[in-house]
Amino acid sequence: MRSSPARSAGRCPATTLALLLGLCSMSRAADAPGPYAVSPGPDPFAQIDSLLPAPSEARLPSGAPGPAYWQQKVSYKLDLTIDEDARMLRGKEHVAYQNNSPHTLTYLWLALESNQAAPFSDGALAKTWKDNGEVTVDDFRRVLMAREFDGSTKILALKDAAGNDLAHTLNKGMLKVDLPKPLPAGGTFEFDLAWEYLINNTKLIPVRSGYEVLDDGTCIFGMAYCYPRLCAYTDYGGWRLKQPIRYGEFTLEFGDFEASITVPADHIVGATGALLNPGEVLTAERQSRLKEADSAKTPVVIVSKDEADAARKKPAKESRTWKFAATNVRDFAFATSRAFVWDAWGVKIDGRTVRCQSLYPREGMPLWDKYATQAVAHAVEVYSDVTGIPYPWPHATAVLGAHPSGGMEYPMISFNSPRPEKDGSYTERTKWSVIRVIIHETGHNWFPMIVNSDERHWMWLDEGFNSFVQGFAERSWKEDPKITTAQPRFAVEYLLSPAHQPLMTLPDSLQNVSQNAYFKTSVGLTMLRETILGRPLFDAAFKEYCRRWAFKRAEPADFFRTMEDASGMDLDWFWRGWFFSTSTSDVEVVSVARRALHGGDPAKAGERNKAREAKQPSSITHERDLAAGVPRRIEKFPGLKDFYDDFDPHAPTDKQTDDFQKFLQRLTPEEKAALQFDQPVYEVKLKNHGQLPMPLILKLEFDDQSSDIRRYPAEIWRLANGELSVLVVAPRPIVAVTADPYNETADTNFTNNRFPRQIDQTDLRLTKPPEKIDNPLRDALEKERKAKAKQPPAKPMEVTP
Ligand SMILES: [Zn+2]
Repeated sequence: MRSSPARSAGRCPATTLALLLGLCSMSRAADAPGPYAVSPGPDPFAQIDSLLPAPSEARLPSGAPGPAYWQQKVSYKLDLTIDEDARMLRGKEHVAYQNNSPHTLTYLWLALESNQAAPFSDGALAKTWKDNGEVTVDDFRRVLMAREFDGSTKILALKDAAGNDLAHTLNKGMLKVDLPKPLPAGGTFEFDLAWEYLINNTKLIPVRSGYEVLDDGTCIFGMAYCYPRLCAYTDYGGWRLKQPIRYGEFTLEFGDFEASITVPADHIVGATGALLNPGEVLTAERQSRLKEADSAKTPVVIVSKDEADAARKKPAKESRTWKFAATNVRDFAFATSRAFVWDAWGVKIDGRTVRCQSLYPREGMPLWDKYATQAVAHAVEVYSDVTGIPYPWPHATAVLGAHPSGGMEYPMISFNSPRPEKDGSYTERTKWSVIRVIIHETGHNWFPMIVNSDERHWMWLDEGFNSFVQGFAERSWKEDPKITTAQPRFAVEYLLSPAHQPLMTLPDSLQNVSQNAYFKTSVGLTMLRETILGRPLFDAAFKEYCRRWAFKRAEPADFFRTMEDASGMDLDWFWRGWFFSTSTSDVEVVSVARRALHGGDPAKAGERNKAREAKQPSSITHERDLAAGVPRRIEKFPGLKDFYDDFDPHAPTDKQTDDFQKFLQRLTPEEKAALQFDQPVYEVKLKNHGQLPMPLILKLEFDDQSSDIRRYPAEIWRLANGELSVLVVAPRPIVAVTADPYNETADTNFTNNRFPRQIDQTDLRLTKPPEKIDNPLRDALEKERKAKAKQPPAKPMEVTP
């Protein structure tokens, strides 16, 4: 199944992958900076304290969580049943809400995220329409389905521990539960819910959860946010109650989960958490294959294609219950189907075995059987290394199916969509999509599953960071300089587009999520690492951020402050320019001029001036007078000559010579040595046409074809108002100077970066327009001619002799 990516709500593909999948057509509306834009102001280096919340004892000025930091803990016991025939989920849950805040609470807010798939949701009602005169059949079916289908959560019971009904109020996707008595700081409130809802078909209601129907009618269920979840109550913003619309994901609390999942007996279930009862749900042979997989050198098949095929041919009638448990996770999801082929592989992380595994229908083969588990394992290894947080959980699972496009992440498990064509062929792009999407979704285990963030408010804090680390995984999968993940020069088109908005923009207010939250963020981190801080400082500071905020909820200011605190660099100018504004950088090398170094020796100065004068162009009139041999009066009457006719204006006067001698006498031997300096000296004039200061990088090319790169900090622009000169001492004569030769600063106009300019060389294609024009008369004549040709030939007239 291929749903149209541009219309789906699934939104977690790799940045450039989003481009490949067509997720991010550039929209051309509205003014460039959104309402959150900050103008660069007179001083781009002014501190940004006024843009950030004041630090506190909960969130320290260093960017670390402080002694007063708190977060709520919410633990769930879930009892979930999939009714495959009715396509329904029925559930019961027991919730323990631990109030770690210093405040008394009188009510709790729960999110009923399945209500996204209901006609009354903001997500359904706030959909807009871009008229281009056509609509695909699939898209129109989605419009109809959104009016008809109600996948909202029906609360069947909501009771406190004593069995008393709890008063509650529904607000679209949020449920307010009144507490029977105020819940004091440090208290715990336990309650029970029962609910059910109709599961949506992700092809027709493309949200992040639902089922997919394969060609033979077999279903894959990818069940996310399938239970009433507590909204987050935070130190910085109280209850987080933004209704889901499309791009803003989830804001969640950590807690412990126990889940019983009842499904048809031939289903294979993957879920957040460790499987507690393998003996009850797996054959002895599958259990032993799993054991073998834990120490195998390559992935081991646990459920083969033939076994899955057999189940698909003859579905089981009875049911079975799978049990899982997870501690300290912020969410729970599961996938279930009888179509699943399963392979698994134990990977050693920090001395522990992490079971990397994939669940996919035969429709994912080839590709999934070859690459999926490898991609999971690769992500687990690379992210553990780059973040400094070893993968903490027992398994990491990639699922194919039940997701409309790209992929979507949950703790320990992700749902993904890329797969081969139905005939088993695939393009290179599809192959790379499978690998990249799985790396990306597995990588989300760190952002936001470990380093928790408020996804509904800040998309860049998880998507951008994840896309950045994804770049490490891609580059260490295969050597290919064309890998574009997180590379600044590929951001330029977006930076110059009308859709360009500050990163500090709400997800659902973004015109182009993939170019903004994913790509612009990861490009910013690349610039910090490669250009602004350098790898050692950046890597240590980024790890420090991950370490400080693992299993806590970080806000943007915590990141900004930690990066400065741990690297020892003032980066306020970069946060202001790259995160809060739409400023860009466009450095021009205006001119390069060789400067003759001298101490003022009047004799040498005279020679230089004479030589320069000789090089001055004459006038055309003078040249033609010379050629014509115009007679000069002074030659005819030599007596007209006087002192000035032979005077050499470049010869030093006695006074000049005297002054120079006095100057030399005042110099120390070291100062005199500077006068002997004989390397070429140049003035390089630069102009930044943008408003974002960036480190200045100059490549000097010399006359012997050697070159040198000089780096200057962004602060070089502090007084320059966009224009400055640098004095460059070169070991050899310079023939060319290029600013930012690797385009590592996302310089938006590369044509002015080199001096002298070069002739631009691109292709010019010759074409010949098609001749056919719309000609109804010709079509009618053609039709008539064809009709005539079809008539039987007239019989020859019989002639009677
Ligand atoms: Zn993502």
